Amino acid sequence: MTSNALLCFCGSQQLYADCCEPFHLKTKQPQTPEQLMRARYSAYAVKNAAFVRDSYAKEKQAENSLSEIKDFATSCRFVNLTVLDSGYDEDTGFVKFKAHYFYQDLYCELAEHSKFIKEDEQWRYLDGEITPVADIKIKRNDTCPCGSNKKYKKCHSV
Ligand SMILES: [Zn+2]
Ligand SMILES: [Zn+2]
Repeated sequence: MTSNALLCFCGSQQLYADCCEPFHLKTKQPQTPEQLMRARYSAYAVKNAAFVRDSYAKEKQAENSLSEIKDFATSCRFVNLTVLDSGYDEDTGFVKFKAHYFYQDLYCELAEHSKFIKEDEQWRYLDGEITPVADIKIKRNDTCPCGSNKKYKKCHSV
């Protein structure tokens, strides 16, 4: 499989090259908060910490260092993203989503209501309310929770 045929990490069922990659390469700007949110998720999945940092609202960039973003991205295996709802007006917007990922041997669900603002004509991520969900500890012989029907040790295990 060439990288051109890679499905996008954000779950859009489009090719990465037609979906989030142009945002990561900065050849296109996200036109909606949902596009930006998907691009941020994909950026975590491809460990593009600079994109994640630069797409925070300016006031948040200082508290989200590149090294922290990179550490989080490299310690997780991202499974899927589900956008539940989104909307926007002139210069504010929101996205409700769920993301699943593995952190070490924990299967984690992140449910978040994210807020976005427009700065310099670009959508940026401001902050979000996270709904805590219990992380599930996975054993090597368990069926992988990603939906592959494989054992965890043959699937998402490190
Ligand atoms: Zn995408
Ligand atoms: Zn798996």
